[in-house]
Amino acid sequence: MFDNLSERLERSFKILKGEGKITEINVAETLKDVRKALLDADVNYKVAKNFTDTVKEKALGQNVLTAVKPSQLMVKIVHDELAKLMGGETAEINLKGQPAVILMSGLQGSGKTTFTGKLARMLKTKKGKNPLVVACDVYRPAAIEQLRVLAEQVGVPMYCELDSKDPVSIAQNAIKEAKAKGYDLVIVDTAGRLAIDEQMMNEISAIKEAINPQEILFVVDSMTGQDAVNTAKEFNERLNFDGVVLTKLDGDTRGGAALSIRTVVDKPIKFVGTGEKLDALDQFHPERMADRILGMGDIVSLVERAQEQYDEEEAKRLHKKIAKNQFDFNDFLTQIAQIKKMGNLKELASMIPGVGKAIKDIDIDDNAFKSIEAIIYSMTPQERSNPALLNGSRRTRIAKGSGTNIQDVNRLLKQFEETRKMMKMITGGNKTIPKLKR
Ligand code: GDP
Repeated sequence: MFDNLSERLERSFKILKGEGKITEINVAETLKDVRKALLDADVNYKVAKNFTDTVKEKALGQNVLTAVKPSQLMVKIVHDELAKLMGGETAEINLKGQPAVILMSGLQGSGKTTFTGKLARMLKTKKGKNPLVVACDVYRPAAIEQLRVLAEQVGVPMYCELDSKDPVSIAQNAIKEAKAKGYDLVIVDTAGRLAIDEQMMNEISAIKEAINPQEILFVVDSMTGQDAVNTAKEFNERLNFDGVVLTKLDGDTRGGAALSIRTVVDKPIKFVGTGEKLDALDQFHPERMADRILGMGDIVSLVERAQEQYDEEEAKRLHKKIAKNQFDFNDFLTQIAQIKKMGNLKELASMIPGVGKAIKDIDIDDNAFKSIEAIIYSMTPQERSNPALLNGSRRTRIAKGSGTNIQDVNRLLKQFEETRKMMKMITGGNKTIPKLKR
């Protein structure tokens, strides 16, 4: 995401490298490049112009700070302005109400139904909500089926009326049902069209009037660039929605929608979809997104993902085993499974500052652990819990069984032993930590 823009911005800052101070001339030159980079990322023309004008004003105004290098100063100003452009503060959704009602809007194919499933999952697991999802698309039976499947995967109930052709009454009935059965959150998925059309707008406006939702979210495919911004404008004029959901930010989106939408419709981006899987949803944080765009990584989101998967009981159990030097290959497998649960490896790695760019063209896939897993699975249960048993003939057998070779097995065992030693030192199993050799 944003790879191209990040690279272009970095290149424009290079103009200032080696410059002793900020001048009208070198700022103008840098910002010409910055503006071009924004336009090429499909940022709205006016937004790009205002952006560079503001950055210029700030840069020239702050020239007194001679302790900071011009290139660093420029990165800082651009960073802060990018965050501001995307809304500055993180915008929460409103979940007050018994039940709280969230209405989805957007074109067909934008990712509304997928997002409905993702949001139900997120609010259920992170906020302890008890959601009911509602299928209001009376035109495409496939859409109802799609939501039914998603709801099942998330483990939440779905409300639909297969014979009804009246989305307004379906939505109203769903809310009645939620009240009767004690659901505290209702997420209403609606029918989209391929393009803006009067009937769709009338229908969703009528649903809005009838159910008076706490939150109307506008879902839009970020790959559609400036079209996304225009569609947002039209939906906002009719619905006055509360927030934007940008989907498909994992694709090769140029980022223009993320950077322009806030300014054009004056509504915050609240969530971003980063994949087809149900857990590929992030709350939108303007500051962190600015970090990412400038190649500073997004270590905070990375830690949050890790925390989400963190199992305290398991961690305690592991800690004890490590301290007693009993960490074994079964634990190793559990750890690999945990890392895999956190999501796509390349995406995770790209959140580490400086790494995103370096691995842009490298293919890291989720199969990276495959041979390690194959080797461990080829061990007997006794060998897994007691790696000391692994003599030469056992190693040969394991290499054969796992479709690897003896060197691979030896390497893994060596790494495992070293990891074990390190862990023991770190957890205090060994009180004398050797000094690092220099
Ligand atoms: P709807 O017509 O608005 O309900 O859109 P869908 O939820 O059916 O989504 C359309 C397509 O986009 C589906 O194939 C989804 O799997 C895909 N999709 C939705 N969100 C994302 C996302 O964040 N990333 C990616 N890569 N695909 C997505």
